[in-house]
Amino acid sequence: MHVPWRFVSSWHCSACGDCCKEYRVRLRAYEYLKLRGTGLIEEKAGRFYIKKIGKLCPFQKGNLCSLGSSKPIACKIYPFSILKKGDERALFEYEGEEFFVYVDDFCRNIRLKRDLKPSSEIIREIEEAMEVILGKRSELNLLTAKLTPETRVPQRLHRHRLMV
Ligand code: SF4
Ligand code: SF4
Repeated sequence: MHVPWRFVSSWHCSACGDCCKEYRVRLRAYEYLKLRGTGLIEEKAGRFYIKKIGKLCPFQKGNLCSLGSSKPIACKIYPFSILKKGDERALFEYEGEEFFVYVDDFCRNIRLKRDLKPSSEIIREIEEAMEVILGKRSELNLLTAKLTPETRVPQRLHRHRLMV
């Protein structure tokens, strides 16, 4: 279920890798162009996706992502979704523009709350996600930990799916 960001008090990534198994990743046009040579992309109704092999994303190695900082934007900003239309409780203003931000509670590390008071931790993470989708950054500090497959998983990974 996708919940408006205001209902989320905190989130961190523990690199479980479950989201990579659960979802099929849709690619933007330039991501498709970058990855089409791998033979691991499929097209459906004019949209491009990473092909699942069995239930797995072929770029997942263990729990981590072998694409590292080149992973698709949808992966970089997971569990956030940023839309141009939505519920007022999902409204997020960024540089004078209105966006609607939802958080996927499929991730085991989403902590929900009942009130609408914004969490500063979530705001910082959404701001980084905004910078990603607006092309202002490709390297991540908050949303993706800079782990390598050899790196041990810290107890609390502040940021999106490591390289997941
Ligand atoms: S964001 Fe991290 S903790 Fe959440 S499902 Fe994905 S890998 Fe697991
Ligand atoms: S983060 Fe990497 S391994 Fe996970 S779904 Fe995206 S491309 Fe696949």
